This record gives sequence, C-alpha cells and structure tokens, in this order.
Amino acid sequence: MSIACSTVKMTDKNGDLNFLNQEAKQWRDIPKEPIKYAPKSETIMLSGGLTILQDQLIQAALQSLGENYISMPNPDFESFQTGKAYGNKGQCNPTYFTVGNLVKYLKGLRDEKGLSEKEIVEKYVYITAGGCGPCRFGMYITEYKKALRDAGFDGFRITSFEHDKGIFQGDDIDDEILNFTPKFFITLIKAVIIGDIINILGYKMRPYEVEVGSVDNAIEKCRMIVSDAFTSHSSLIKAMWTCRKELSTVELNRLQPKAKVMVMGEFWAAMTEGDGNYNLHRFLEAEGAECIPQPILNRLMLSLWEAERAVKKRQALAVEGAKSIDFSSAKTRLLIKAGKAAIKTHFNLYAKAIGLHDYEIPDMDKLASLSKEYYTLDCEGGEGHLEVAHLIESVKDNLSHLVISVKPFGCMPSSAVSDGVQSLVTNRFPEANFLSIETSGEGAANFYSRVQMALFKAKQSAKEEFEALHIPKTIPEKVNNYLYQPHNTKAGSAAKLVESLGV
Ligand code: SF4
Repeated sequence: MSIACSTVKMTDKNGDLNFLNQEAKQWRDIPKEPIKYAPKSETIMLSGGLTILQDQLIQAALQSLGENYISMPNPDFESFQTGKAYGNKGQCNPTYFTVGNLVKYLKGLRDEKGLSEKEIVEKYVYITAGGCGPCRFGMYITEYKKALRDAGFDGFRITSFEHDKGIFQGDDIDDEILNFTPKFFITLIKAVIIGDIINILGYKMRPYEVEVGSVDNAIEKCRMIVSDAFTSHSSLIKAMWTCRKELSTVELNRLQPKAKVMVMGEFWAAMTEGDGNYNLHRFLEAEGAECIPQPILNRLMLSLWEAERAVKKRQALAVEGAKSIDFSSAKTRLLIKAGKAAIKTHFNLYAKAIGLHDYEIPDMDKLASLSKEYYTLDCEGGEGHLEVAHLIESVKDNLSHLVISVKPFGCMPSSAVSDGVQSLVTNRFPEANFLSIETSGEGAANFYSRVQMALFKAKQSAKEEFEALHIPKTIPEKVNNYLYQPHNTKAGSAAKLVESLGV
C-alpha cells in the first residue's frame, strides 16, 4: 500500500464493512409489501410532458382505442419544487420537473379527489420515455420510484420505452394491461405528428395576428376537430383540411419585421411550454420575436438515425470475421427504413392538408455531416451532435437572427455542447448570434435579461434585412394569407414575403 493510501481514513459512514464475506445478492427495486394490482378494466395509464397540444391530442387518440389513458397537466413551478423535495440531489432540471409533476398529480388524487394511496398505487400506471444514458435519462425510472416511495406511493408502477431500442424497461407489467400493439404506437405517432404541424403553424402565425388571441382560439378549434376525428375514427386528413379553413379565418399582418429565433437545445427544455423553460416561447413572442420551435419529430428522426447507424456499425463489425450473413440486422434496417418512410408520409399528408408547405423534415445525414467536424457522432447523450448541427445550419442557410440553446441546470450533455463545443463553432462562424442559456427552475429574471440582450441584436438584424428591400406600393392580398409561404434566402418572415414579390 502506498503511503498516500495508508493515510486515508474511512469516515464513520463509509466505515461499515459488514458487507464483506456476505453472499452477493441482486438488488431489486421492489415494494416492501406485495401488491395486488387492479385488472386492466380498472387500470388508468398516465403520461404527459410533451407540448400542451400534443398531450391533449394523445389523450384523445389513445382513448379512441379504448385505453384508459390520461395526459397529466403541463409541469409547472410547483412540480419542480415537489421534484426537488422528493428527488435525489444533483439531478438535471427536467428530472425534477417531470418526476415532481407525477408526484404532484398523485398527491392531488389523494388530497383533492379523496383516493387512498393504496387505491392509487393499485390502479394507476405511469408511462414515460427512457434510455440507457449516458446522461441522466438512464436513471429516470429509479428517480421516479425513489420520489414516489418517499411521497407515500411505494409500489406505484412506472414503465418506459427506451427511445433508442423501442423496448421496455422499468416495472414488469402484465402485457394485458399495457396493450402496446403496433396500432397503439401508430395512433400515438399520428397524434404527435399532427400536434407538431399545428404547433409549427401556430408559431408562424401568432406573432402577426391582428387580434390578440385569435391564433390560439383557432388552434383550440383545430384541437377539437382533430380530437373528434380520433374519437369517431374518421379521416384525419379531412380533419386537417377543416382546420385549414379555421386558420384561414385569422386576420394577419405579416409585413412586420420580427426577429426570428430558433429555440433548440436539450429536447425537453427546448420543447416544453411552461415553467420548465420560463415560458420562453411566449416570452419571445411578447418581446416581438417569431420562434422556430423544435418539433418532437426531430427527436424521433434522430432516434431512428442513431438506431440505423448502430445497426450499420454492428453489421460492419460482423462482416469482418463473418462466416454467414446476419439477417436480423438487415431486418432491423428494413424496419427502421419503413418507420422513417411512414413518418414522412404521414407528416407530408397532414401538412399538405392543413397548409404547411414550407417545412422540411430535417435531413439527419445532412445535419450529421455539418456537425461531425465539431462533435463526435458516437456521443449520443442528450441531443448528441444535433445542437451543433442546428447552429451551423442556421448560419449557413440563414434560417434565423438568433439561436437560443436551452440548457437545463445539471445537464451533462448540454453543458459539454452549449458551453464547450459551441464556443468553437461561434469562433469559426462569427456571424452567428448564439445564446446558450441555463434553466435552473429559479432565476427567471436573470434568464429573461440575457434573452433580451441577445434579442436586441436579433431585432436590429431583422430590421436591417427588411429595410434593405424595396417595399412595393401595392401589397397583394396573398401576403397576409398564412398559406402563402415563399422560400428564399431571407431569414425574417416579412423580408421573405417582400423578397418573393420580386420588385
Ligand atoms: S439530456 Fe440533460 S437534461 Fe436531458 S435527461 Fe440527459 S442530463 Fe437530463
């Protein structure tokens, strides 16, 4: 033993060596008492945590399949505080918000609806997305269970599908209860895609509405139309066509030069619409900006891209010493290809019906080649190389006047990318207006102040871009119709419209 080691003293807490010479036992996170769970007919599935519209559409979609399913309300500041109170120390911010949101919801069932803890544990199941890390994503299930146990819900069932493998981890739940058939997933994906499309249109239109609240009202009508279509098993394409008529009634004034802001970063923090990112999107709109949100579709396409890449790598390794062809890999690749094609087809059909013409599903190969020089494609934690790719793409293709990367407090991948790698990117692309901003759950004033500073420069750029153009004396009516979506090299929406008139 070296001198250094021999001087190390065990602390009182770490000095318990009773485990020595004991037989090793597998640790399992199981309830103290055996629980008799309710049958399928009485079991209620809970989930949530996407955008507000998507959570509501998913609820309608899954209920239309006969599932007892409830989307929980959006996580708020109280959820965060609950998560902190019951969670382990040093977790990342989304963990506190999402774990706390479930605990808060269950406490509400107990304290306001009068259900006993026993009844809640027996009847409810929570479904979430999970993964194997390398970030804290891999520990979500354990975090949920720890917090629930401490809050009085020992034995509450949690399950998750791993985003990268499509299999389930967490509690072993009877297949009868969680009926995850292909139809279940296809319906779920349809709700997510439609939610993405309506959200994208909402963000394009809201900053230019003549009457405050008119876009939100039209979107609420669209939500009801699509929900009814799910419930009545009628055509979703037809429903999206009816939504198009609703959106067409909104009066817009689109010739206002507004800063276009791409909001990206850690998936949940960039996507959530609430206290999880201090209502960033609404704040930007109130400050006179237009947001480019990150659709869930991006995350889906990234997961498929990562899965395909992993299979290709496995195949390449196998081929080196292979005596036979591995057909299982070929089948997986085929399935991934079919999944990608199905997502693209559904997206295009629904987008066309409602009138979203200028949105392109991200080309993951292009994004990978943009970023691979800066961030290894093998590092899959968080959004992997995508944060870097979005910034470079925004600069090269002139997509926005400002890129904000939302970085949750305690997020390992986001810190490495936003604070580390992006410094090199902004050095190589000095024209980039980039802000990496941390969401700690507290400290909104500091957050808003930093956003405002970056926004000031973005607003100037939008104004200069617009004023450099010649504005025709007569403006054609189509300019204020949301269905007119010209494509050119300008970043701002108003500048794009004027440029398209070609005067
Ligand atoms: S990417 Fe960051 S914020 Fe998201 S789960 Fe992983 S560690 Fe947490």
